[in-house]
Amino acid sequence: MKSLTITFEKEDLELLADYFFELFSPRFSNSGSDNNRQATTIEFSNKMKNKVGLAILFENKIRLSLSYFANAPQLLPYTIFHEMTHLWLYQSGFDPGHTKRFYQKMLEFEQTGYQIDPEVHVHTRLAAEGGYVYICSNCENRWHLKEELRHNIYCALCYRKNGVEYYATLNPDFYAYIDGKLDKCS
Ligand SMILES: [Zn+2]
Ligand SMILES: [Zn+2]
Repeated sequence: MKSLTITFEKEDLELLADYFFELFSPRFSNSGSDNNRQATTIEFSNKMKNKVGLAILFENKIRLSLSYFANAPQLLPYTIFHEMTHLWLYQSGFDPGHTKRFYQKMLEFEQTGYQIDPEVHVHTRLAAEGGYVYICSNCENRWHLKEELRHNIYCALCYRKNGVEYYATLNPDFYAYIDGKLDKCS
């Protein structure tokens, strides 16, 4: 018997991605801060060579590999959930990396009944939560670092957008501000 290969077009994938994003959204709703949040955009790109998905935190964007999902659309829900988890952590004020909090949230994916992508699951390396939070005074972009720096962080985003130099400084009250309590590490 001949095997049949079905390749999804970009337009089909975009519809599918929107569908899963909407489906998973209730699991990622933040109380309170949703109103002034810009909408998440999802795009498929041919330029993704080493990654199947990427969360672009400050632009609130998810970028997905077109070639990978064109041939494996059944694995799309898993990576969407994964990238949504990165965005959700960042927007909730937490370290957006592969922390314990990240994997805790990813456990919820199993409740959806969709297929886990074994390729993506390989990177279950646990990163410690960055306890030093630097915030740009102009755009509020955040960096979660493991240690304190001797200098402030130059905000390339502000320079790119406005041609103005701004620096991100250490904000020790950040966690207290987000949680109403000090919760630097879990
Ligand atoms: Zn990731
Ligand atoms: Zn900035």
